[in-house]
Amino acid sequence: MHLKIDKITAPLERYFEGFQHLIFPNVCLQCSCELSRFEKHICAFCWDKLQRTYFESYEVASGMDQLFWGRIELSETFALYFFEKEKPIQDILHALKYQFKAPLGIHFGEVMGNTIFKSNKYKTIEALIPVPIHPQKRFLRGYNQSELLAEGMATILEIPILRNVVLKKANNASQTRKNRFLRWDNASEQFCLGKIDIPYQHIAIVDDVITTGSTLEAMAQLLRSHYPDLQISLLSFAIAK
Ligand SMILES: [Zn+2]
Repeated sequence: MHLKIDKITAPLERYFEGFQHLIFPNVCLQCSCELSRFEKHICAFCWDKLQRTYFESYEVASGMDQLFWGRIELSETFALYFFEKEKPIQDILHALKYQFKAPLGIHFGEVMGNTIFKSNKYKTIEALIPVPIHPQKRFLRGYNQSELLAEGMATILEIPILRNVVLKKANNASQTRKNRFLRWDNASEQFCLGKIDIPYQHIAIVDDVITTGSTLEAMAQLLRSHYPDLQISLLSFAIAK
């Protein structure tokens, strides 16, 4: 009986799918070419142009590990792509942040989740903590892009997301104009802890892009100061080269 219904509805579904495609063509957000039924948000050609880090298969310290040496002790680090200005990755991150592309963030999170799922290094991570943004910023943007990445990852890794464990204090727009040392001081005052306890031994902070690492360092320091034995890892979509 089911088969009979499927036989009737499947062509109809395809018909409506095709019709929808005519009105809202699915295009690559990078090159604007039309996407095939098997592609999501970005075409295969543009995905290929992004530079993978392959940090998940490193057996020695990666550049990302070294970035935090002497600053904060971390368990594991991971970034999917290298970030470079004037390259497609910059447009993609911009779209994720400012163009109301929530499904894109979840999709990227799923890709991150699938990538680290295959590696043994990240098996002990029990929960994800997205880097928070100020509530006002979140309201204007419609979402927190790091939270979307965490959502995508959480479904693949089947682990929870800890929201409101770390809170963002002030909306600081002048951050990027300061140098690294000034920024560190500033970053350490960016966050505070919420009223929720962390009942885990190993958590991972999730971010969209890492440049100097000062924000993540501040957030990890804050967590470490209240949970001295907590293992902290970092998972990011991209890291500056
Ligand atoms: Zn494309």
